[in-house]
Amino acid sequence: MSSEQLPAEATSSKPLRVAVVGAGPAGFYATEALLKAREDVSVDLFDRLPTPYGLVRFGVAPDHQKIKSVTRLYERALNDSRTRLFGNVELGRDVTHDDLQRHYHAVLYAVGSANDRRLGLPGEDLAGSHSATEFVAWYNGHPDYCDATFPLDATDVVVIGMGNVAIDVTRILAKGHQELAVTDMADHALEELKGSAALRITMIGRRGPAEAKFTTKELRELGELLNADIEVAAEELELTPESAAAAAADATTAKNVEVLNAFAQQQPSGKPRTVALRFLLSPVELLGSDRVTAVKVERNELVATDDGYIRAVGSGEFETIPAQLVFRSVGYRGSALGGLPFDERRGVIPNVDGRVVGDGVVGEQGQPLAGTYVAGWIKRGPSGVIGTNKADAMQSATALLEDFDAGRLAKSDRSALELPAIDELLASRGARPLNAEAWFALDQEELAAGVAQGRPRVKRVRWAELVDEPSGGND
Ligand code: NAP
Repeated sequence: MSSEQLPAEATSSKPLRVAVVGAGPAGFYATEALLKAREDVSVDLFDRLPTPYGLVRFGVAPDHQKIKSVTRLYERALNDSRTRLFGNVELGRDVTHDDLQRHYHAVLYAVGSANDRRLGLPGEDLAGSHSATEFVAWYNGHPDYCDATFPLDATDVVVIGMGNVAIDVTRILAKGHQELAVTDMADHALEELKGSAALRITMIGRRGPAEAKFTTKELRELGELLNADIEVAAEELELTPESAAAAAADATTAKNVEVLNAFAQQQPSGKPRTVALRFLLSPVELLGSDRVTAVKVERNELVATDDGYIRAVGSGEFETIPAQLVFRSVGYRGSALGGLPFDERRGVIPNVDGRVVGDGVVGEQGQPLAGTYVAGWIKRGPSGVIGTNKADAMQSATALLEDFDAGRLAKSDRSALELPAIDELLASRGARPLNAEAWFALDQEELAAGVAQGRPRVKRVRWAELVDEPSGGND
């Protein structure tokens, strides 16, 4: 295509200006895709938290350091002169969707799914019943959760759910202090967990072993714990013909079933703790008067529906599992953002390949909202591992670039696109953004403190020490 054929915006000496909201994996992969695709682009990366990397810092388990090395790629994006980080800037409080629309050609939301899903059961709000989200955020040093408390005097813990988050929570509870003390777990959690009385941690899944959502590597780790024996009942591993067919058709499922059968053969070796995996049990009530004492569960049978989904159906047979601490680990849910459409049923922002489309309340149903994109969990729902976000974000970035090149992101008010305009707006609102330099200084400090203690890093966790002490706006 000759330069005469290109739309005016694309041939202009002004770069493409993009705001990415959410500095987690999806936000960074989208940024990386934009930076790679064209020289004349600038990306401002916003996050309400003072530190970048989202779930890599606050979700990935502290004993899974290798997964965290992915941040080296994100650092490269932060070190690119075309990127600016605005940490500690909250959408809705400091800046709105309309502001961002005015100041950028395009806005890409990669805000994840911050809320935990609820079970809707009697007793769910009893003391001692918590979401796994809360516990994970607490032990990872999320500044909103560092004062959370959990009854760690519990000897029996139940974790509801058969996903990787349930495994993370179970493994962290099953590990001893010495194993955790070499990680970057937040100091407050390390200290509290030292006194944990947990003896038996039971994960419960409403469906069978072939329907479990965890990955095999994570499952295997449960059988290699220094402090805990694994317990699986062989009779709960029997597969219906439909589940056996599903297992045969999927390598991860087949491996999971194989590992679980091997676990069922193991004899306890006298380790202080036990991790039990129970299948085909749906929680129906959390029992207790002033705090939870047990989980009442109903045994299920599996029924294949016409569309191939394997559903759990109650058998009318009940059992009570003692628990003074319960973690609900049944997935996450996105929440609506002011000024943007939302799909209440799926908990995502409606979109087609990353282009946000109207929901009939905001924008015309199914029609693209100019210059607005999504990537990551808020786009597709809370599924996949960190790497899954790469292709997902690339798809959204490609849609954005296509729209820019086709002249669909033209702006009438060019002055709002000038670099200082957004900084001035934030200053007028009293926002105190933290830039990449401030983050790198904090990072160095945390890493150095880690070296001194033989740990990967020692995290700063409180808002005051994260926001008040570092200095550095984008100037
Ligand atoms: P998940 O994988 O969706 O698992 C949720 C679990 O909760 C499923 O077993 C589900 O069972 C169960 N569940 C849902 N509603 C329930 C109900 N009403 N009653 C009983 N059980 C219910 O979610 P997640 O564990 O939160 O993980 C989110 C994503 O993060 C996943 O993609 C996961 O792989 C990823 N992640 C990865 C890692 C890692 O790579 N190490 C670590 C953590 C998280 P059904 O299947 O029957 O619905």
